[in-house]
Amino acid sequence: MGLALEGVKIIDLSRVLAGPFCTMILGDLGAEVIKIEHHQNGDETRFWGPPFVEGESAYYLCANRNKESMTLNLKAEEGKEVFRQLVKDADIVVQNFKTGTLDKWGLGYEQLNEWNSKIILASITGFGQSGPYKDLPGYDYIIQAMSGLMNITGEEAGSPMKVGVAISDVITGLYTCIGILSALQHRQHTGEGQEIDIALLDCQISALVNVASNYLVGQTEPKRLGNRHPNIAPYQVFTVADGEMVIAVGNDQQFARFCNILELAELINDKRYATNRSRVENRSSLIPILQRELLKNSKQNWKRLFDEHAIPNGPIHTISEMFNDPQVLAREMVIEGNHPHIPSLKLTGSPLKLSKSPVKVRHHPPLYGEQTAEILQRVGYTRAEIKEMKKKSSDIGGIMMMNFELTEEQESVKKLVRRFVDNEIMPNIQEWDRKQHFEPRILERLSELQLMGVCIPEQYGGAGMDYNTLAIVCEELERGDTAYRTAVSVHTGLNSMTLLQWGTEEQKQKYLVPQAKGVKIGAFGLTEPNAGSDVAAMNSTAKKDGDYYILNGSKTWISLCDVADHFLVFAKTDHDAAHKGITAFIVERTFAGVETKAIKGKLGIRAGNTGEVFLSDVKVPVANRLGEEGEGFKIAMSALDNGRFTVAAGAVGLIAASLEASVKYCHERKTFGKEIGKHQLVQQMIAKMTANLEISRLLVFKAGSLKNAGKRNTKETSLAKWIACDAAFEAANDAVQVHGAYGYSDEYPVERYLRNSKAPVIYEGTREIHTVMQGEYALGYREDKPLRNPLPSWPFEEEEVAIQQR
Ligand SMILES: Cc1cc2nc3c(=O)[nH]c(=O)nc-3n(C[C@H](O)[C@H](O)[C@H](O)COP(=O)(O)OP(=O)(O)OC[C@H]3O[C@@H](n4cnc5c(N)ncnc54)[C@H](O)[C@@H]3O)c2cc1C
Repeated sequence: MGLALEGVKIIDLSRVLAGPFCTMILGDLGAEVIKIEHHQNGDETRFWGPPFVEGESAYYLCANRNKESMTLNLKAEEGKEVFRQLVKDADIVVQNFKTGTLDKWGLGYEQLNEWNSKIILASITGFGQSGPYKDLPGYDYIIQAMSGLMNITGEEAGSPMKVGVAISDVITGLYTCIGILSALQHRQHTGEGQEIDIALLDCQISALVNVASNYLVGQTEPKRLGNRHPNIAPYQVFTVADGEMVIAVGNDQQFARFCNILELAELINDKRYATNRSRVENRSSLIPILQRELLKNSKQNWKRLFDEHAIPNGPIHTISEMFNDPQVLAREMVIEGNHPHIPSLKLTGSPLKLSKSPVKVRHHPPLYGEQTAEILQRVGYTRAEIKEMKKKSSDIGGIMMMNFELTEEQESVKKLVRRFVDNEIMPNIQEWDRKQHFEPRILERLSELQLMGVCIPEQYGGAGMDYNTLAIVCEELERGDTAYRTAVSVHTGLNSMTLLQWGTEEQKQKYLVPQAKGVKIGAFGLTEPNAGSDVAAMNSTAKKDGDYYILNGSKTWISLCDVADHFLVFAKTDHDAAHKGITAFIVERTFAGVETKAIKGKLGIRAGNTGEVFLSDVKVPVANRLGEEGEGFKIAMSALDNGRFTVAAGAVGLIAASLEASVKYCHERKTFGKEIGKHQLVQQMIAKMTANLEISRLLVFKAGSLKNAGKRNTKETSLAKWIACDAAFEAANDAVQVHGAYGYSDEYPVERYLRNSKAPVIYEGTREIHTVMQGEYALGYREDKPLRNPLPSWPFEEEEVAIQQR
């Protein structure tokens, strides 16, 4: 038995719900669906959870079976060429980018039609391809609000309420299906393809059916009726002896039978209730009479009586009750499929029961990019060409889910920083370190090279590169010296990225833009003399006084204390509320009452600037409060997710530097007639450095990839920071050992490495704090919840999603 849509080929560019739901239905009916996913991130619903099972999100699984997945960069020429090959013999393209996006990429309907005159392009947007709102993004929630649906949902005296699922997306998916099937039929008759313009708002308005008509015909504003029906009575939820049930009396005959069961026969011919119209008009007197009687019996007994007399009624199920209902099971509305990672994956069955061509689940919801290579082969690419494409993954994009190679852009940044370190830091660092001198010119040069805002979006003055490029910058800088890596860590990781994540637009314009350009320098003031690991023990206070907060207190061990123009300062707005009493502020050095003083005599970071910040009656405008009052602890911890990431990357650089210096020395120094590198115990130290370099770098890049994908990464970043910093300390220690007595003087750089390697094991969460965190994660005592403001995912300019229902 063939499937209804066998032979129909769909290229699915849609993400999230409406589009994928539509293409899943077409896939169920037999169409071949190729889901094209973003080459770095994939369908965003892959990250929407919990619940996740074996790494797959339940949300993604609900709308993506019977598809294959390939990844493609539609902005790159090579990606466009692959797309052209796919479209050439496709029937349908479905997309939900914002209006004009495909045209912008040169992939609009005109172009598709040139490649294939039979192509049908279904474009789903929030508001359609025309009208004043055509450029606005469409969110199911907004559509539920703007269509009037929320206003007619909920209790009469309550607030407007949204439906419990993304119903506007679902209805839009169904309408898109109808549009596509109609266009296929039209093509059958005429041979021509066409464009289908589907808007969430239009679909939801159309689905207002009688409510819309009530207004259009009756000219009265429909009201919220809770669980009642606007045009039928009694048709609502009733309370019975042991709970609630729905009774839906649809006509006068049913009403008569219903009254007899309730022993209220006198109502049948009562002119106030004899017809549906009179019952709707006299609902307020009728319902209490019925309700009184219904309280006298149980759900089960009423159900039996009503079923016997054909009165529509039903229990109000929970979802689990519904899925265990014999009727639901008999209709095969739960199906079990195969999945490479999830044994017996349960999915919702199809409601389309076709007698001659029944729907079939042929493919599990595909893994990200699962069939990329296979599909490329199908459209004619050779194995050699596919291999070549994999190498250039920045262009074709993510053919493999994991890519351990740097992109061309990352390689060129790495080379740039390495050259800069070799030419401008290495020749001077011994002297600066001896003199405990912080060289401000280095920060100016880093700004000129656009390295002070490397992962800040271009719209905020940064270079707009990905988060792993920041790691590469930190790794290479630490090779030179920890002082300048620390400067980037604090300025970009702890301060600028926190403004990016939590700042208002005004704060971003005022503080982030100059910081990203390196014109102003940012620092981070959390630690106090009595509050290090135990942040909530802080004593600094912020008291609201009109349009200002008055800040008092002192911060210690603050990197860049004498250099920074802006400080992120954390202070208690509510002293008794521990963590929840902490609030974050942007404080300018020029504010009256701010003073700083460097700490001298440090073990390491001698070429760096670290010290105290004193706050005496500092007037900070309310507009400089970052986030809400009491949100400071969360903001500080999310800042540390980024700071720790850069510290871990720096530690990778320190391991690399220790290894580089040790290998060089192994070939220079001879004992017992041979290079010391030939002694196995020396080799053991070198081997350990090599292994730890690789392990640490992988952990850092994993955390960076999660940041790029917009995923919470506290656990992974903490692990990277802990392991990399411990390994760097060990590597520097061994590097001194490899150098023998020469390693003990600053004639060789390794003694500085050892001194510099200690602070990162202390700051941004001590070794012990990270150990405890990892133990707690593993034991299930700690879990990360989504933040109110997540760090923006990368690429930053790709917020093209038209539909983002959550
Ligand atoms: C060079 C340098 C630069 C710094 N830069 C900044 C900066 O820019 N901004 C900023 O705000 N801060 C900065 N700090 C401060 C740094 O973050 C803190 O030093 C760090 O958080 C540890 O706090 P503490 O020194 O008070 O140690 P404590 O918290 O007093 O810890 C002392 C010891 O007790 C252990 N310990 C504490 N609590 C626990 C626990 N629950 N379980 C197990 N062991 C525990 C610790 O691991 C440590 O071994 C910097 C520090 C240094 C050294």
